[in-house]
Amino acid sequence: MWHASILTIFPEMFPGPLGVSLAGKALASGIWSLDAIDIRAHATDKHRTVDDTPAGGGPGMVMKPDVLARALDAVPPDLRPRLLMSPRGAPLTQSCAAMLAAGPGVVIVCARFEGVDERLIEARGLQEVSLGDFVLSGGEIASMALIDACVRLIPGVMGKEASGVEESFAGGLLEYPQFTRPQVFEGLSVPEVLTSGDHAKVAAWRRSEAERLTRERRPDLWAAYLARKRP
Ligand code: SAH
Repeated sequence: MWHASILTIFPEMFPGPLGVSLAGKALASGIWSLDAIDIRAHATDKHRTVDDTPAGGGPGMVMKPDVLARALDAVPPDLRPRLLMSPRGAPLTQSCAAMLAAGPGVVIVCARFEGVDERLIEARGLQEVSLGDFVLSGGEIASMALIDACVRLIPGVMGKEASGVEESFAGGLLEYPQFTRPQVFEGLSVPEVLTSGDHAKVAAWRRSEAERLTRERRPDLWAAYLARKRP
């Protein structure tokens, strides 16, 4: 079973949104499991201190390496990658989510305050993963996004009809526009080709729309797509 262990000072945030809909049903049916570990339970002093002032001065607090190391070391050793949610990390991608989904699960450290003591990252070989170029107030929401992206790719979670092979990023392109009934909405019609019943034409239209959207919106993805197509 795919297993996520989350280290956090707010374990009550989990499963939160991961407990409903697709991920929630899969959680309830035992396709994956989750345990939220309270970092504070691994503090040793009377006040359960998990942070301290930054060496060298400056604003905010830094998460103590000794407490985090104890929390991490209490997770039974296995083959799961140990991640740290961090704006400095490698940006999360669909291929990264697919790779994690194909493995045994993840151990994720969610930081708060200014982050964690650098020595902890080095000493426990944590892989830093970012959700994007913006700063959240903690790693919890970022970890939920990562887990959601992985869980929906575990076999049996999505229906066959939504296997994920045609989604945005799967082929290096953004997804084509989607339409449903009614045929006419506020004077706008569903593109005729989509109701023609000609599967080859539908596929060609979708491919060219996916290419157009990617070219217009994501020059970075478009350049990578072209480079792969014509090496
Ligand atoms: N001072 C840090 C930001 C700390 S934000 C810096 O400037 O880099 C507090 C915590 O929220 C981080 O340690 C991380 O665990 C989480 N976090 C914030 N932004 C994130 C992002 N874009 N992706 C993943 N985690 C993030």
